[in-house]
Amino acid sequence: MSTAIIYRQQLKFVAKTSASPKSRKNHYITTNIEHPTVYRTFEYLEKLGAQVTYLPCDKNGLISAEQVAAALTEQTALVSIMLANNEIGTILPLQEIAAECRKIGVLIHTDATQAIGKIPVNVQDLGVDYLSFSAHKFHGPKGIGGLYTRRGKRLEPFFHGGEQMANLRAGTLNVPGIIGMGVAAQEALDGLDYAATEVKRLRDKLENFILQNIPDVFLNGDKQKRTPNTLNIAFQDCEGEALLWDLNEHGIAASTGSACASEELESSRVLRALGIDKALSHMAVRFSLSHFTTEKEIDYVISVLPAIIKRLREISEGK
Ligand SMILES: *Cc1c(COP(=O)(O)O)cnc(C)c1O
Repeated sequence: MSTAIIYRQQLKFVAKTSASPKSRKNHYITTNIEHPTVYRTFEYLEKLGAQVTYLPCDKNGLISAEQVAAALTEQTALVSIMLANNEIGTILPLQEIAAECRKIGVLIHTDATQAIGKIPVNVQDLGVDYLSFSAHKFHGPKGIGGLYTRRGKRLEPFFHGGEQMANLRAGTLNVPGIIGMGVAAQEALDGLDYAATEVKRLRDKLENFILQNIPDVFLNGDKQKRTPNTLNIAFQDCEGEALLWDLNEHGIAASTGSACASEELESSRVLRALGIDKALSHMAVRFSLSHFTTEKEIDYVISVLPAIIKRLREISEGK
């Protein structure tokens, strides 16, 4: 059972729980930059008759508490907004958003998968009712994740036919996964200072080098409100996929945010949500650092990147 499935299922069940037959509430609020596990789940709920508001982010990828407040209605059953974005790293103001929800008693879930291990996450400070996360994003084992549920908040079981976890999740527990996730969570917690200082320093070193030495580049996401490990940057006239290929040839792993659905390369929904033009969204790549990234590696990227970009731009001009 993959965590992705756990996510989709649990969100569905959180949604189902919140829209109890008694209340008959059927309106949900989310954003247009959610990870597919959340976004696609809401699209599915729409097929089942739910009304969903997808709040649009601003050009830096931020969503405000005011936007959420304005979208809340008597019919709103649940708000689900990510804590940190997986493509551009923006950190959303969940504390303020949750406060708006609490004012009128609407349940709030946050997908904190990209935040755990990168920034401090405290469910009490955030004031959310539900918080989900996945172990492999903080160097834990694959195939395990977690859903925090505030005491007293309802949750329906999403598998039936077993009494595990107080009847909430039937099935024999994945003990190695759970223990592995616990150890990884402790290490992630112990490493938060390192993430905020050293990982950020290395990310900033790469970012500043690029901004200062390579012309016509565009940083995606909010420069300040951003996870310390993420750098999403577009190089004008330099196709992202081609750049990845070249970087890969140099032993450098980067990523385009774009979902490579079917054979056709679609540009990233998240980047398009920022309002950047479609051509430029194809030129964005994401460098993700971690506790394992070394200064030597960053210096190496810095030493080869300008020539790679120059070559690709020459090819693109020649077209
Ligand atoms: C990776 C990710 C998920 C999905 O987690 P999996 O365990 O890989 O399915 C959900 N949300 C965000 C923000 C993610 O980055």
